[in-house]
Amino acid sequence: MNLIDRLREAVGGAAVLTDPDATEGYARDMMPLAPAGRPRAVVLPADTAQVQACVRACAEAGVPVVPRGAGSGLTGGANAVDDCVVLVTTRMDRILELDADNRLAVVQPGVINRTLRDAAAEHGLFYPPDPSSLDWCTLGGNLATDAGGLCCGKYGVTSDAVLGLEVVLADGSLLGTGRRTVKGVAGYDLTRLFVGSEGTLGIITRATLKLRPLPAAPGTIVAAFDSVARAGDAVNRVVRAGLVPSLMEIMDATSLRACEEYLRADLGAGDGSALLLCQSDAGGVSAAAELDAMDGLFREAGAEWTHATRDPTEGALLLRARRVSLPALEARGACMTEDVAVPRTRIADLMTGCEKIGSEAGLTVAVVGHAGDGNMHPTVLYDGSSAAEYARARGAFDAILALALSLGGTVTGEHGIGKLKTEWLERELGPVSMRVHRQLKDALDPAGLFNPGALFTRRPAGGRTA
Ligand SMILES: Cc1cc2nc3c(=O)[nH]c(=O)nc-3n(C[C@H](O)[C@H](O)[C@H](O)COP(=O)(O)OP(=O)(O)OC[C@H]3O[C@@H](n4cnc5c(N)ncnc54)[C@H](O)[C@@H]3O)c2cc1C
Repeated sequence: MNLIDRLREAVGGAAVLTDPDATEGYARDMMPLAPAGRPRAVVLPADTAQVQACVRACAEAGVPVVPRGAGSGLTGGANAVDDCVVLVTTRMDRILELDADNRLAVVQPGVINRTLRDAAAEHGLFYPPDPSSLDWCTLGGNLATDAGGLCCGKYGVTSDAVLGLEVVLADGSLLGTGRRTVKGVAGYDLTRLFVGSEGTLGIITRATLKLRPLPAAPGTIVAAFDSVARAGDAVNRVVRAGLVPSLMEIMDATSLRACEEYLRADLGAGDGSALLLCQSDAGGVSAAAELDAMDGLFREAGAEWTHATRDPTEGALLLRARRVSLPALEARGACMTEDVAVPRTRIADLMTGCEKIGSEAGLTVAVVGHAGDGNMHPTVLYDGSSAAEYARARGAFDAILALALSLGGTVTGEHGIGKLKTEWLERELGPVSMRVHRQLKDALDPAGLFNPGALFTRRPAGGRTA
């Protein structure tokens, strides 16, 4: 029996797509810069046993498997390679258990992030990881990329919310990792090994996730500064004071002006200015005290003005400026959006460095970011119809990665490496770490079945085998 027939037998004929018009839609994620091939087939299994059968069939045929959730990734991580099978988890979309007493949920990988958040809220509980794509990205994709979001500074990223996983390995066997208990240290931490592995080590088919009590509706404070240096100083003061806002976002003048145009609103963006948007979900008097304390620190750092509100609707409106920043920039032209992270004390250096990189390239670089954890998203704006501008933008994109590393940062804070930044992973981690990465890959996926070309190449440049 050939591979396609075996896949049809495993998942049913309707769940195997081979028509290029249909498979094309599963060949790419949301990052246009990353390479993508043409899949030989797309399969949409409905349960773990079907995933196992597909993996076994592909392993026997020697055909690579690219796992895929919603395809909202920004690194080409879910992009097809030529002749692969793209395995899409969106039909595995059930919350299998919500145990309110033990504050945990057991989910299939295709559950949309928002669906779990809403289900948890019905029990007075909270699933914290909140990527801006939460209305459509899957928990499987969040786990595979170790996704972050706006409230990571206080609540951590996806790996901080995982207790255990079920993973289909390259030989089709089923691995269980982790636990359901609050504590537990038995064995190597295989859960964390698979979280953030970007589909290169196995296919996550089930996850046990931690829930927290639902926090109070947040109060919001906004502060404007006449320079990113002052805004950066304000962030440092908040951290040094031991305050932990549930959200702390920063926007530069270019992003602010783009949002003003997009929303047709006046956000008070002057030349060289920067805005901090912060929230406290501590509730009651604690939230009032936290907002007051931030207000004082922002004024000490030289804020031009501050505005605080306990009204959640007004808070959401103020936050809208940050949430629309990417579409607002896209309205101005083609965009390359970065995802670097730097120590919080170096945020201002990164922002001024990006401005310099932009002016040297004759392009605009706008910066927004999660100031609470130093994860910044500089966006290079360019004319998509000009090859010369594209080349300059690509150069600026790389210069920003180099800048982040020089500031003691990392080339990815939350989006991952995917098929976009593989050579940068090598530059950041160095040869010993890359050797250990390759040994782990060889141990778990000796034939290189899962997501080839993502994260790193199997052998170092000049190595013995390709
Ligand atoms: C507008 C927008 C805003 C965004 N905001 C954020 C943000 O705030 N924070 C953030 O972290 N990201 C953000 N992202 C990026 C993206 O949404 C996240 O990376 C998300 O976690 C991807 O989920 P997905 O289901 O779309 O996965 P996909 O894009 O389909 O896949 C992502 C990676 O996970 C692997 N994978 C998927 N499912 C599995 C599985 N079951 N087992 C093994 N591997 C698997 C894929 O092979 C791929 O390597 C944003 C994207 C967009 C378009």
